[in-house]
Amino acid sequence: MKEIVFNQVCKSYDQNQVVKNLNMKVEGGERLILLGPSGCGKSTTLRMIAGLEDITSGDLYLGDKRVNDVESGDRNVSMVFQNYALYPHMTVRQNISYALKVNKFPSDEINSRTSEAIRMLDLTGLEERKPKELSGGQRQRVALARAIVKRADYFLLDEPLSNLDAQLRAYARKELVKIHEQYHQTFVYVTHDQIEAMTVGQKIALMNEGTLQAFDTPQNIYKKPANVFTAKFIGSPPANVVEASYDAGYLYIEGAKMKLPDAWCKVVGSRNRLYFGIRPEDIHLTRAPKDKDYAMKALVRYVENYGNQLGVYFQVKGMEMLAICEDAAPMPGENVYFEPDFDKIHLFDIETTNNLGYPKKLQ
Ligand code: ADP
Ligand code: MG
Repeated sequence: MKEIVFNQVCKSYDQNQVVKNLNMKVEGGERLILLGPSGCGKSTTLRMIAGLEDITSGDLYLGDKRVNDVESGDRNVSMVFQNYALYPHMTVRQNISYALKVNKFPSDEINSRTSEAIRMLDLTGLEERKPKELSGGQRQRVALARAIVKRADYFLLDEPLSNLDAQLRAYARKELVKIHEQYHQTFVYVTHDQIEAMTVGQKIALMNEGTLQAFDTPQNIYKKPANVFTAKFIGSPPANVVEASYDAGYLYIEGAKMKLPDAWCKVVGSRNRLYFGIRPEDIHLTRAPKDKDYAMKALVRYVENYGNQLGVYFQVKGMEMLAICEDAAPMPGENVYFEPDFDKIHLFDIETTNNLGYPKKLQ
């Protein structure tokens, strides 16, 4: 129960298809993040679940019920919008309890739910204030409290923390996870921020230009990106993905070459061209590689200090990549070897950009 199923769902505005053949199942009680760049169709997807947008084709199920033609008010959903609006003339307590009053809940139920939401969202002491007497963060929490008291089966949030500063956002993220762990609603959370997605999500659905790119746990999305887009979107800084060619056991990047371990050669098969990917933290830059055959000559161009780590931009021939070094980073202008951790490389098809998979021992 409480699952959400998209079956070949498409959404068009006039001739413009903004959600393309979406197939996806969100398990009941799961915390799903809809992630992707601005304009990729996240809000549209969420609004289709809420019943605020018509579905152009395909089927949408909430639980075992097809809801394409079910009114929003009959879907048992509660939604927090990016640009939430509180009722300015009502107090915090009145704002939070309003929906329950309208739906004629008994007054002791209204009071207990409202008090609980006030406590959970740390609004104690602010109950009698009007929205204009609150900070942005406090208003945001009132908007969340207002949605929580409904105790709907589906809790839908559209970039709910985007108005908060970074510190408050990190705090509010944890509070949201706690709320979910208490109520176990099916939780769909839209964000364009991949850090937020990694920290809040049990699953991530990554979209680009209306198409689902990856649907997996944060861990898998990070460690085994389904395609080039996913590798480059997830991770901060993102993975290096460069065009490469392959011939008889050797990988070539712009004319530089290194041996590829046998297990990887099997993955490449008969391909001559591919994309080679590696996360910045999985690269060693060293003057003395373990085995020169399995490394490429590189030139350090620029070093960035992140405080606890260093970002080292380097070139293999004309191809620029980024490595993260813990300490003792090489200096700009230095000639080094680029030595990948071969347990952590990713290869992608040059045409489809899909991940070619991993050698057996790494699966
Ligand atoms: P996201 O939330 O990922 O930023 P949206 O779902 O809001 O993206 O929008 C996806 C695409 O649909 C965008 O290109 C946007 O311009 C378009 N779009 C959204 N709403 C409408 C609308 N009501 N009419 C026409 N086009 C729309
Ligand atoms: Mg949006």
